[in-house]
Amino acid sequence: MTRPSPAAALNGVETGHICDQCNRGIRTGDKAVVYATYYDADGWVVRRVWCDDCGSTTIGLPTDGADEVVVEAVYWQGRLVGVTTVDRSRP
Ligand SMILES: [Zn+2]
Repeated sequence: MTRPSPAAALNGVETGHICDQCNRGIRTGDKAVVYATYYDADGWVVRRVWCDDCGSTTIGLPTDGADEVVVEAVYWQGRLVGVTTVDRSRP
């Protein structure tokens, strides 16, 4: 099974707009940083959303069995657009 590129899979995905760290609202046009995981059953799933100030650009402790990624995106009316991968646990 081919694993889709996280940047492509997460582009256009709906997310919440409240930063998971500081609880600030992320507004349309703001940069957002997102942590997502991939499991075969679920595909890429957004787990954390941060504002530009709080976003980490590296994956922290690895999670067993998951392909993990940190991406930067622009938050646009409830969705992620212009997604780019900044760190990934697997090549
Ligand atoms: Zn924040």
